[in-house]
Amino acid sequence: MPDLADQAEIQEQLARQIAIDNRVQNGKWDGLPRECYECFNLINDLRLKAINATLCITCASINEKNKGH
Ligand SMILES: [Zn+2]
Repeated sequence: MPDLADQAEIQEQLARQIAIDNRVQNGKWDGLPRECYECFNLINDLRLKAINATLCITCASINEKNKGH
């Protein structure tokens, strides 16, 4: 019964997608590789896991310096 199997698969995909969306809304990393918003290098996994970073370490430290005093 291919129809039933397809439906189950679609529902499973939907449920997974909703779970991912919820995690993103909660400010947690979705588990996917992410590019830095400024230099487009891939952000370190540990950084994503820890703080759901949108900038790589290099750009984040540059931004920190630019904030200045
Ligand atoms: Zn960067």
